[in-house]
Amino acid sequence: MSATLIDGKAIAADLRAKVAAAASRLARDHGLVPGLAVVLVGEDPASAVYVRNKGKATVEAGLASFEHKLAATTSQAELLALVSRLNADPAVHGILVQLPLPPQIDAQAVIEAIDPAKDVDGFHPVNAGRLSAGLPALVPCTPVGCVILAKTVRPQLAGCEAVVVGRSNIVGKPVAQLLLAENCTVTIAHSKTRDLPGVCWRADILVAAVGRPEMIRGDWIKPGAIVIDVGINRVEAGEGKTKLVGDVAFAEAAAVAGAITPVPGGVGPMTIACLLANTLKAASMQAGLPAPAV
Ligand code: NDP
Repeated sequence: MSATLIDGKAIAADLRAKVAAAASRLARDHGLVPGLAVVLVGEDPASAVYVRNKGKATVEAGLASFEHKLAATTSQAELLALVSRLNADPAVHGILVQLPLPPQIDAQAVIEAIDPAKDVDGFHPVNAGRLSAGLPALVPCTPVGCVILAKTVRPQLAGCEAVVVGRSNIVGKPVAQLLLAENCTVTIAHSKTRDLPGVCWRADILVAAVGRPEMIRGDWIKPGAIVIDVGINRVEAGEGKTKLVGDVAFAEAAAVAGAITPVPGGVGPMTIACLLANTLKAASMQAGLPAPAV
C-alpha cells in the first residue's frame, strides 16, 4: 500500500470534540442546549444500531437527545403528526427521521413536512435548493464528511478534477454540489455513464457512492488521486461470516491512490459527527446566533 490512509475515525472524533466544546460555550453564554430528535419507525436492525449510536454520540457531545421509536405499523398520518409536534417543540432544534421507512409511508412527504430550519439531514427540497444555489443551508451529513476528509489531505481543492460515482439525493448530488462550491471541476457518473473506468481515471478526487461491493478497481484510479469511498456493503467472508467492504477494491486502489478512506473507519464515522455539527448550527441559527465554527 502506498496511499496515505485517511483515518475517518480520528477525524470524526476531533470534530465531535469541537462540537462538544462549542455546545458547552452555547450553554454557558446563552443557556442554549441544542436538541436532536431521532425518529425510528419499525425494527430494521441496521437502522436501530444507527439510531442508538446517534443518541449516544449526541449525549456525549453535551447535546440533548430525544428518541422516538414507533411501531412498524405506524401510519403516515401518525408520523406526520409527530413531525408536526417536533417542529413546534422549542427544545428540539434538529429532526432526523431514520430512513428507510415502511412501505405504507411516503418518505418524501415526511421529509417535506420537517421544518427546513430543523432539517439536520439536509434532505428537504428547501435545503437542497439552497445548497445548489450556493446559499447557506443545512447540508447532508455524509457529503459534508466526504469533503472534510478530502480536505485533510489537500486543503485547497480549487481546480481539481472531481468525479462522483452515484447521483442519489442523499450522497451523490450533494457531494457534487459541495465539490463545485470548492471550485472543483465536477463530473457526476451513474449507471448509464459510458466508459466509467475512463471517467474515473480523470479524477484527482474520486468519490464512490454506488452501493456495489468493490466495483471500482485499482486500474480505474489515476496515480496519486484522493479516493473517498462512501459505500457500505456487507459481503460473505467465508465460514458463515460476513464483513463490510466499500465500493472501491481497497487493496488495488491503495496501491495507486495518493490517499484513500478505509471501510469501515472512513466516511462512516464522519456522518454522525457532521449530524452533531448540523444540530449545533441549527440551534444557533434558530436562536439568531452565528453558526459556531467547528
Ligand atoms: P443509491 O442506491 O440511492 O444510489 C446509487 C447510485 O449509484 C445511483 O445514482 C446509481 O445510478 C449509481 N450506480 C448503481 N450502479 C452503478 C454502476 N454499475 N455504475 C455506475 N453507477 C452506478 O445509494 P446511496 O447514494 O444512498 O448510497 C450509496 C452507497 O453509500 C451505499 O453503499 C450506502 O450504503 C452508502 N452510504 C453510506 C453512508 C455513510 O454514512 N458512510 C451514508 C449513506 C449511504 P442511477 O442513478 O443511474 O441508478
